Amino acid sequence: MHSAPADVDLALLGGGGAASLVLAALDRHGVRGLRVAVIDPVHRRGQDRTWAFWDRPDGDLDPLLSASWRQVEVVTPAARRVLDLAPLRYAMLRSAAVYERAATAEHRLGVTRVLAPVQTVHDDGERVLVRTADDGPVVRARWVLDSRPRPPARPGRTTWLQHFRGWWLAAQRPVFDPDRAVLMDFRTPQPARGVSFGYLLPVSDRYALVEYTEFSPTQLTGAGYDAALAGYRDLLGLDPGRLTVREVENGVIPMTDAPFDARPSPRVVRLGTAGGATRPSTGFTFAAMRRQAEQVARALAEGRPPVPRPAYPRRHRWMDAVALRALDRGSVGGAEFFARLFDRNPAERVLRFLDGTTTPAEEMAVMASTRLLPMISATAGDATHRLRDRLRPPRPGPPVPPPVTESVRRPEP
Ligand SMILES: Cc1cc2nc3c(=O)[nH]c(=O)nc-3n(C[C@H](O)[C@H](O)[C@H](O)COP(=O)(O)OP(=O)(O)OC[C@H]3O[C@@H](n4cnc5c(N)ncnc54)[C@H](O)[C@@H]3O)c2cc1C
Repeated sequence: MHSAPADVDLALLGGGGAASLVLAALDRHGVRGLRVAVIDPVHRRGQDRTWAFWDRPDGDLDPLLSASWRQVEVVTPAARRVLDLAPLRYAMLRSAAVYERAATAEHRLGVTRVLAPVQTVHDDGERVLVRTADDGPVVRARWVLDSRPRPPARPGRTTWLQHFRGWWLAAQRPVFDPDRAVLMDFRTPQPARGVSFGYLLPVSDRYALVEYTEFSPTQLTGAGYDAALAGYRDLLGLDPGRLTVREVENGVIPMTDAPFDARPSPRVVRLGTAGGATRPSTGFTFAAMRRQAEQVARALAEGRPPVPRPAYPRRHRWMDAVALRALDRGSVGGAEFFARLFDRNPAERVLRFLDGTTTPAEEMAVMASTRLLPMISATAGDATHRLRDRLRPPRPGPPVPPPVTESVRRPEP
């Protein structure tokens, strides 16, 4: 026997990054009297990820930032570029601060928390019935915002992963420059298929996040990540004898032109990675999630349906499909691709392009800075592949695998 459904105006399925930003935005917009439920088997708290993104200073997240930088470096074997991001800045936000702000908002909004996995979602066009595990609570909602991890609606023409491991390194004496972050450093050994880079995000002169990242089809082993990360640390000239690994961060993010269904039924809206907020060519997700959270909250505050605009314009998704294809087929090298973007455009334009907020004229300028012939060939290949896809019966794409977490190194207490 199922218990009687609890009626709410809004149910958030999944209470991670996207949902936390929605809760905070609802609170900021002064939304009151809305009956809200959050359903997630886990109540997210603490540091389980670090978000890096760019924006203009003096926004609502400023008090929560761990660090921000006006200058970043993009490094290739041939050159070290120091980019001035003004009027933007690169910022770091740790998850604990975001979850804490969401918890405060949750309290003020009088949210009902259901600590159970969602099992079924049935939308009859008027109400959405959400069931958790057998005999668990049932919620009936006017609108559902669903950010549970989902596979894409169809397989991609290119299916890559952004997979990474990071170490939070603590030093006894000053070794980092807190005024400057390394955005991408392509001096790491490059994989046979894919792109690799390291980066360094210092929060003080003694504490920094150092990461090794790959854009490629498959993950490494735990030992593989440790070796790659140790190699990058050495490349930075950091002495392991004087550093302690305090925390380890692992992650896998989809990088694919496969479509994520953002509106599976009339009253269900998908947000976050499940709703297509992850930019296929970079894996960056945070800025789009934040943008959509703002749109959802504003709509609800004004009594409109909580349906945000697509995370990225269609033409950006097409450009990403072409770029991913060129990288995957090896006709363009990753270091060369990103270096040309930053060498031939103001940094601010490239960053807005990667966020999907440039004008068509600016996009022409950005595209013109890539090598033309491989891009034309990737465009033709993409068009042929699309045509072939249309003739195939539809089937869902592969799910994103969980990250490799085993490590040969143990973080010290
Ligand atoms: C380690 C890491 C670092 C990242 N760093 C960056 C970054 O620097 N910049 C950037 O732009 N992006 C980054 N990303 C990508 C992206 O911003 C994050 O993955 C972000 O958390 C996505 O938010 P989300 O809400 O879509 O998913 P999540 O935050 O993963 O939330 C999904 C939620 O769904 C819940 N759930 C799962 N199954 C069920 C179920 N059956 N029923 C109910 N709930 C369920 C989970 O418990 C989870 O709380 C990072 C990702 C990771 C993993």
